[in-house]
Amino acid sequence: MTYEEYERGEEMKAQGEVAQANLKAILDDHGCETVGQLARNAYKYTDCGAWLSVEVWGYERSTIVHGDAVRDLPTDAPIIAIHVGSIVEGVDGGVDAHVVDLLDEAFEEPAMAAAAYNRALEEVEKEAEDIWNETHGCTTCAQHWRDEGWLGGGSGGDGVTRVWDECPACSGSGSII
Ligand SMILES: [Zn+2]
Repeated sequence: MTYEEYERGEEMKAQGEVAQANLKAILDDHGCETVGQLARNAYKYTDCGAWLSVEVWGYERSTIVHGDAVRDLPTDAPIIAIHVGSIVEGVDGGVDAHVVDLLDEAFEEPAMAAAAYNRALEEVEKEAEDIWNETHGCTTCAQHWRDEGWLGGGSGGDGVTRVWDECPACSGSGSII
């Protein structure tokens, strides 16, 4: 082993420790022991049912682990980033992933990584709600927009009608497509 290889190995070890400490702060903050539990929490405790993927460092390059595979990850998997997003029913794409990079140098202490994760969850929740409200108006919402003379109001329940927040039919919550 050359000195450069030794140095690179030491540097990666140090980065791995930073990532582990940041991940632990996030897990502790949610009373979780594994990322699988964290993923279940994210799904369960957000209105939008947020999904979580994790980026795992591997030989030469990292891979992103999605869905049920997150739950099956070994507890010592070298996780370097958490991706949070959400699917919005009836809408292609949904909320794009917000990434919490566990090696982000802006995190001066692990608590800042935990705060960044919570912020990502909140942002995803808010964006999912915005997308829902842009697209899930019921037929009464649609009638309201047409009465207002807004030609782009849609017909309701078609995935393009905006929710009218004072709608008496859906109480401003929109309709399931
Ligand atoms: Zn409505």
